[in-house]
Amino acid sequence: MTLANGRPYLAIPGPSVMPDRVLQAMHRPAPNIYEGELVAMTHSLYPDLKAVARTEGNVAIYICNGHGAWEAALANTVAPGETVLSAVTGRFGNGWADVAEGRGITVQRIDFGTRAPIDPARVAEALRADTAHRIKAVLATHVDTATSVRNDIAALRRAIDETGHPALLMSDNIASLACDRFEMDAWGVDVMIAASQKGLMTPPGLGFVFFNDRADQARKAMPRVSRYWDWAPRANPEFYYQLFCGTAPTHHLFGLRVALDMLMEEGIEAVWTRHAALARAIWAACERWGENGALRLNIADRSLRSHAVTAARLGKPWGAALREWTDTKAGVTLGIGLGMSEPDDPTGSGFFRFGHMGHVNAHMILGLLGVVEAGMGALSIPHSPGGVEAAAREIAAAAG
Ligand SMILES: *Cc1c(COP(=O)(O)O)cnc(C)c1O
Repeated sequence: MTLANGRPYLAIPGPSVMPDRVLQAMHRPAPNIYEGELVAMTHSLYPDLKAVARTEGNVAIYICNGHGAWEAALANTVAPGETVLSAVTGRFGNGWADVAEGRGITVQRIDFGTRAPIDPARVAEALRADTAHRIKAVLATHVDTATSVRNDIAALRRAIDETGHPALLMSDNIASLACDRFEMDAWGVDVMIAASQKGLMTPPGLGFVFFNDRADQARKAMPRVSRYWDWAPRANPEFYYQLFCGTAPTHHLFGLRVALDMLMEEGIEAVWTRHAALARAIWAACERWGENGALRLNIADRSLRSHAVTAARLGKPWGAALREWTDTKAGVTLGIGLGMSEPDDPTGSGFFRFGHMGHVNAHMILGLLGVVEAGMGALSIPHSPGGVEAAAREIAAAAG
């Protein structure tokens, strides 16, 4: 039999769970796009987006997914034929590098594998070797959603600064914004990109590029910037008709307004703390199950793990079997493994991922973990009992 009928739970790392308040805000007739509520509401998004990113800089909003934001960041800063340094810690780092290559940019990749963070010293070494300053930007992923590693972006900035190299630092925060602590200005990030469907709790369809004045100088030095991706008109809400290079994404904007309200009501520090506590509950359960069992977390060191997504390995065929079980029997969809091939498992089917970003709370995470424990029991996947109990203790300790 199945026990899946009830409210489904999409526990994948994006799109994340959409809050009812966000969905309700989008359920409305088409608004006047020339004046009135939509225009005033759109103006109000800018300061709140910047507050979430901890920046006094600029933000441009695009009608696109994360891939579009990758494209936008590069279109404004790096011309075809110029060079970027890509610090790769998983599938998403490679994805951004591929987008750069597609634009005719030369990509120098440093691949740190699928279980380790960026080593800033190796990035610094590559910059020191670039005495002609050909490298225009360093591309880094704050949280690589495939491996669930979290990179130390502030340490990367310090390492770049110590070399005296003028490269811009560009950070992909699509999986981490409004989940993991991030301080764009204090950490010295020149360009940061995000998308609506992860920590920002809004359906997929909006991409964001945050940029500081240094990055804007690079934009001004570009031989040309393609019209659609140009951030200059998009960052100035005074000229509404230019903001979206055409029709505004009306309903997404109303949804985003409410999602930002929810983040502001909770407070961004509290949002980060909640994500950290819920992540610890997931880790506690997984570590217990793995004591005498098949489950391993992909990133061994807790301090290097994302608070928004957790990649785990059960091995072939259990990873795929567990996902199938939780989906069909219990109404919980887990994320697939991405780019995690192993010698005996080239497609990485033994991996799965927990998405725990955005609109998630203690009962959802405990329910998620209870379902995973039930699935491992039903499928006779070797595991130590007591994972849910360990998670509950973590939740009790955090909530007080
Ligand atoms: C989800 C994600 C992307 C890609 O976003 P799409 O909306 O699927 O194009 C890129 N980078 C990271 C870190 C992500 O988590």
